[in-house]
Amino acid sequence: MALYADLHRHLGGSVVPRVLWRYFQRHDAELSARFPDYYEFEDFYTRPRNTLNEYLELHTLVESVQTPETLPYFIYRLIRGAYVFENLAYLELRYTPYLRTDQSLDTKQRIDQMRDVVKIVGEATKVGEYPMITSQILCMHSRLSYEVNRAIVDLAADHPEYVCAVDLAGGDELYADQLDELKKLYHYARSRNLKTTGHVYETTNGLYPQLLPYLMRIGHGIQIPLKHPELLPELAERGQCLEVCPTTYTKTGTLDNLSQLKTVFDRCFEAGVDIAICTDNAGLHNVRLPFEYENLLTLDVIGFEQLQACQEAAFRHAFAWPYSQPPASLLTGLLQGRYD
Ligand SMILES: [Zn+2]
Repeated sequence: MALYADLHRHLGGSVVPRVLWRYFQRHDAELSARFPDYYEFEDFYTRPRNTLNEYLELHTLVESVQTPETLPYFIYRLIRGAYVFENLAYLELRYTPYLRTDQSLDTKQRIDQMRDVVKIVGEATKVGEYPMITSQILCMHSRLSYEVNRAIVDLAADHPEYVCAVDLAGGDELYADQLDELKKLYHYARSRNLKTTGHVYETTNGLYPQLLPYLMRIGHGIQIPLKHPELLPELAERGQCLEVCPTTYTKTGTLDNLSQLKTVFDRCFEAGVDIAICTDNAGLHNVRLPFEYENLLTLDVIGFEQLQACQEAAFRHAFAWPYSQPPASLLTGLLQGRYD
């Protein structure tokens, strides 16, 4: 039985268009009036954008409705869909908790409220009838201050029962002016025993070799095999895994088509760098994890053996998967045991 792990999924981009549209109809008169027709909304929500920044703008639409009060509504539907339609046994869900707090509060109050948000998300992901192992990754954000980002690291470290790691997100060209601070934040995160990942080498604006030594996994990182394959041996040495999210690159204008990913996979396999295939924003793209797999196979970007290697790598590099084997190995023994 095939059960999967998704290591890179944003809470904001995880709401499928149908669920979001129905939420507007039920609870938000203004947005419901703006999008009276579902198919027009789906088209608006899922169509490709020209740049990463334009694409990130869309997240603000979802963030505006994902408040502490509504988060359980969206997360329940997310877990249900991931279990029923995607066969997920494991999910790491990431977001910037500060952006889910009440904007009318001052910074200190918003920092305090982040703790409630993490708890709400953590409790909402425990859905008895759709069981899977979940953990949160808290995203530091390039548009937030050092103070807020440091509070995010502290919050992550204080709640290992809900959070396994920190990430860095937001527009990647903004990292350039804050590199020393970002290195300090990652250093601090590692000193507090947190796992780390970060959105780097996603676009050609995100080439920051200075940050690579701090990361245990690399969010996207596709520009490394594409433009800087000389770095691959270092990645292999450090045991770093790329979180490759195929559909994203055509939605952000980073790649023209998915076939261009063949170079990414080939060079990584050759250099011994693991890849976990992930969704990034399964809702926003309207592409669930099994379809990411299938698209890569259909386009001959990878074959079945490579797919299986990537699926196993996902469990090996999962920050909070508690077993030494992927679930397939555990279940196969159980299912075959009946016939011994
Ligand atoms: Zn991402």
